[in-house]
Amino acid sequence: MKLPHVDYEAPKTVSEAVELLAEHQDEASVLAGGQSLIPLLALRLAHPAVLIDINGIDELSAVSATDGWVAIGAMTREYLAEESGAVAEAVPLLAAALPLIGHEAIRSRGTIGGSLAHADPAAELPAVARALDAEFVVRGQSGERVVPAVEWFAGYLTTSRRPDELLVEVRFPTAGRGTGASFQEVARRHGDFAIVGLAASLTLSEGAISDARLAFAGISDVPVRAIDAEEFLIGEGPSPGLFDEAARRATDDIDPPADLHGSSEYRRKVAAALVRRSLRAAADNAYERQ
Ligand SMILES: Cc1cc2nc3c(=O)[nH]c(=O)nc-3n(C[C@H](O)[C@H](O)[C@H](O)COP(=O)(O)OP(=O)(O)OC[C@H]3O[C@@H](n4cnc5c(N)ncnc54)[C@H](O)[C@@H]3O)c2cc1C
Repeated sequence: MKLPHVDYEAPKTVSEAVELLAEHQDEASVLAGGQSLIPLLALRLAHPAVLIDINGIDELSAVSATDGWVAIGAMTREYLAEESGAVAEAVPLLAAALPLIGHEAIRSRGTIGGSLAHADPAAELPAVARALDAEFVVRGQSGERVVPAVEWFAGYLTTSRRPDELLVEVRFPTAGRGTGASFQEVARRHGDFAIVGLAASLTLSEGAISDARLAFAGISDVPVRAIDAEEFLIGEGPSPGLFDEAARRATDDIDPPADLHGSSEYRRKVAAALVRRSLRAAADNAYERQ
C-alpha cells in the first residue's frame, strides 16, 4: 500500500531534531526503525504532516554501563541490544525479552526507543521497563527531563512525552548479585505479539526473596505491575506453593481485554500460569547468579 504524502526532514543532531519538533509539535512524527510507524501510515491510521527521520543521528545509538545503570540510546537497534554483552550481564530481564520481539528482520530495524515510545501494551519492552523501574530521558528545547517508567506509560499507545520532546535514552538499573530474571509469554506463533506476557525478576539473599518484580504485557492498555504479589513474595523462600499463591494474588483483580485471540478469562488463566512459570525460572537463574 502506498504511503500518504508527508513532508520529510532528516536532522543530523539531537538539537536539530528538537528544533524541528518545537516547530511542528504534534503535526510531526519521529521516524526511528519504522516497524510500527510505516504500517500505521500505510493503513492511514497515523496522519503526520512531517516525518522527522532520526536514523542519521549517530549520537543516539550506544549502550553504556555506568554507576548501577545501563543506558541505551533511543536509536539503538533491538538486535544490537540483544547482542550487547553489557545488557546480557547487567540487565538479564531485558536480554531475556529482546529475542521474543517479532523476527530478526524486525529487530534489525526496530529500535529500543521506538518500541518504548510506541508503547504497545502487548509489547515486551514496556513490561521490562515497568518491571525494572527504567528511566526515560527526553530532550526538548528547554533541556532534558527524566521520566520514571511508572509515569511514562500513559495509556494505549500513549506516553507522557510532550510533542516537542525527543526520547534520547532509556536507563535500566543493573541487576545485583543473586538476581534472576525471566520473560515468559504465550503467542499464537513465534514472532507474533504476545497474547499475555510477563516480565519477572527475583533477588535472593541468604535463601530468601529480597526483591520481586512482576509486570504483565497484554492485560490492560499499559504494562501492569503485580504489586500485591510482589510484596507477598518478599522475605519468603522460593517454593511451588509460594509461587501458586503469588499467581493467585497477581491475577485475582485483573480484568484483561477480550479479543479474537482469547477471552478475558482465558487471558487471566494464562497470566496465572506465566507467573508460576516465570517465578520458577527466575528463581533458578537467581541461584546461578549468587
Ligand atoms: C511483523 C511485525 C511483528 C512485530 N512483533 C513485535 C513483537 O512481537 N513485540 C514487539 O514489542 N514489537 C513487535 N513489533 C514492533 C517492533 O518492535 C517495532 O520495532 C517497535 O514497536 C517500534 O520501533 P521502531 O524503531 O520501528 O519505531 P517506529 O515505528 O519508527 O516508531 C514507533 C513510534 O514511536 C515514535 N518514536 C520512535 N522513536 C522515537 C523517539 N526517539 N522519540 C520520540 N518518539 C519516537 C514514532 O514517532 C512512532 O510513533 C513488530 C513489528 C512488525 C512489523
